[in-house]
Amino acid sequence: MKTKQRASAGPARVSARSVESLVRPSVLQLHPYVPGEQPRIKGLVKLNTNENPYPPSPRVLEAVRAAVDQRLRLYPNPAADALRERLAALHGCAPENILVGNGSDELLALVTRAFVEPVSAFFRSRPSRTGQPALTRPRPARTTVQYFSPSYSLYPVLADIHGGWRNPARLNPDFSLPSLKELKLGKTWEFEAALTLVTTPNAPSGRGYSTAELDELCQAQLGVVLLDEAYVDFADENALSLALRHPHVLVARTFSKAYSLCFQRVGYCVGPEPLVSAMHRIRDSYNVNGLGQVAALATLDDLPYYRANFKRVIATREHVSAELREFGFEVVPSQTNFILVRPPRFPAQEWLERLRAKAILVRWWADPLVRDFLRISVGTENEMAQLLRVVKTLLSKS
Ligand SMILES: *Cc1c(COP(=O)(O)O)cnc(C)c1O
Repeated sequence: MKTKQRASAGPARVSARSVESLVRPSVLQLHPYVPGEQPRIKGLVKLNTNENPYPPSPRVLEAVRAAVDQRLRLYPNPAADALRERLAALHGCAPENILVGNGSDELLALVTRAFVEPVSAFFRSRPSRTGQPALTRPRPARTTVQYFSPSYSLYPVLADIHGGWRNPARLNPDFSLPSLKELKLGKTWEFEAALTLVTTPNAPSGRGYSTAELDELCQAQLGVVLLDEAYVDFADENALSLALRHPHVLVARTFSKAYSLCFQRVGYCVGPEPLVSAMHRIRDSYNVNGLGQVAALATLDDLPYYRANFKRVIATREHVSAELREFGFEVVPSQTNFILVRPPRFPAQEWLERLRAKAILVRWWADPLVRDFLRISVGTENEMAQLLRVVKTLLSKS
């Protein structure tokens, strides 16, 4: 093979300077999703990305190890059929009601692509300063990606990547869900939106929403509603029944958080067959890696192990919430494996730095809606005891 680059015959037609013009303007303008850090600091108490502090079941580790052999050269099952069958049995539906994804993040991208028209399909548009397309005539609701803020910060990014129209709606100041009456009064909510994404229980607030209020919201929507239940195993209620009952409602779940499987990237979506099959049509042929399928199947074989973990995480969450309230923190009641807190004494960003100096990493956002808060993932009992000790020291020194 020749490795030496041959000098080109003449001047290149695309110069290094003009090459950026080959990138879509909307991509150049995009503010990409910012994942939480994954630093490699020894002894760090990592409470910033809502990973489960407990390892996967020993049976899962064993199943993955046993699958690592010469079969790695083969393609995996293209639609994760065995896993879909198991999930269907678990949820009391048909495999046709289930789609497995490369994490639930992939499912969120797929619903955007399957159900939302890019604005550019209707308008000759150039991006405006806000990054939204500049509009020249009324914009159809078919282009709208709607969500509450604050909620999962990936949603606006997915809308922007796809060229959809972002329609964020503020949650109430206590992070509860606005009622239908409030949404109507607010005038900006679109009941015809092509896609409405609801993080339930909510992130980053941790608040839970009742199935009754979610049902009411779903019934008022004319487009697709996806209930993103990434943290639902730590909650009192889940809304899966809505996806089995309504023709336009999907529920997304993930093995990442509750099932200690972030590394393997497996999520799934439950819903009416016509919507699920639309997503199947546009997914990559082998969207779920083989070891991920093995790990997820083994997970479903050992659910009691995980249920014990949920109980433990919930007990730790309640204990830490009570202790932090004693220290003067405002703690949003949580139905998840993290808590959103408004710390006393110093600004939240300063708490982030001071905790980090003591090898405790939590999450903070500059977004005005949550800038006064820290999000703290629930770690092991020991990790949380360490957090409480450091908090106490920081408060007594100031
Ligand atoms: C973590 C998270 C996801 C993504 O989970 P993956 O399955 O790991 O892609 C989706 N939605 C919310 C709200 C999350 O917090």
